[in-house]
Amino acid sequence: MPRLGFGVFKVQEGSEAYAAVSTALKVGYRAIDTAAVYGNEESVGKAIKDSGIPREELFITTKVANDQQGYDSTLQAFATSLEKLQLDYVDLYLIHWPVKGKYKDTWRALEEIYRLKKARVIGVSNFHIHHMEDLLKDAEVVPAVNQIELHPTLSQVPVRTWMQEHDIAVESWGPLGQGADLKNPHILAIGEKYGKSVAQVIIRWHLQHNLIVIPKSVHEQRIAENFQVFDFELTAEDMAVLDSLNTDDRQGTNPDDFDKR
Ligand code: NDP
Repeated sequence: MPRLGFGVFKVQEGSEAYAAVSTALKVGYRAIDTAAVYGNEESVGKAIKDSGIPREELFITTKVANDQQGYDSTLQAFATSLEKLQLDYVDLYLIHWPVKGKYKDTWRALEEIYRLKKARVIGVSNFHIHHMEDLLKDAEVVPAVNQIELHPTLSQVPVRTWMQEHDIAVESWGPLGQGADLKNPHILAIGEKYGKSVAQVIIRWHLQHNLIVIPKSVHEQRIAENFQVFDFELTAEDMAVLDSLNTDDRQGTNPDDFDKR
């Protein structure tokens, strides 16, 4: 799985999603992260197809929506996603959120999809440690990935440590703090030393922590900028400064609370 991919949350179905994904593929991204609930799988699929890039060079992720969870409904939702994406298989299929009372049945469906080789790997998203422990009691396949909100001001060290101990990769959503961490003066000062933007420094921090990172932008220049992160390396001192910025503040919903919304 490529360590640096492209996210498309809040990217509008139609010309916006088509252009953003086309640009991302043109500048070198090979992993795209979408979800049924983003409503843009059709445009993402069209951009992938029109890119002409061989399928095996791409890594496509999508996710089952909360209102589709359950065994049969997930199998159905997966078929719909494949059709919209115009793909025969996805590389990674995720449970989007741990819907209480349903995520174990949803996981059985993902295991079936995996056995049928319709997803190269399967995983979860927004799972706390207690959700993982519960899932693993019955799971036959261990999730390969947990995609969680993670950025310098929400560094999620306990979850990362647990996942590492269980050999589960951590993928950072909202890697730039959904824009909030981009205003941080400490990160700006670090960037000035390397001649790099705040976004590039943050993406580098994720990569140097062995995290999978999927920044989103709809602007061509930023899409390219966020991919130009392989020509510098943060020192241990600068990594330590970034590590010290954690405040445990979420931009998104706490996975323990989302059911109540
Ligand atoms: P990000 O942390 O990627 O931040 C995106 C924001 O930062 C946008 O407002 C974007 O603006 C701005 N931005 C991006 N690059 C730059 C730059 N170089 N300079 C200045 N501003 C910039 O937030 P996301 O929530 O989009 O997270 C990334 C991906 O993670 C999503 O797209 C989605 O694929 C996934 N995700 C998964 C979730 C889950 O529940 N599993 C939840 C949320 C996200 P603009 O577009 O205007 O350039």
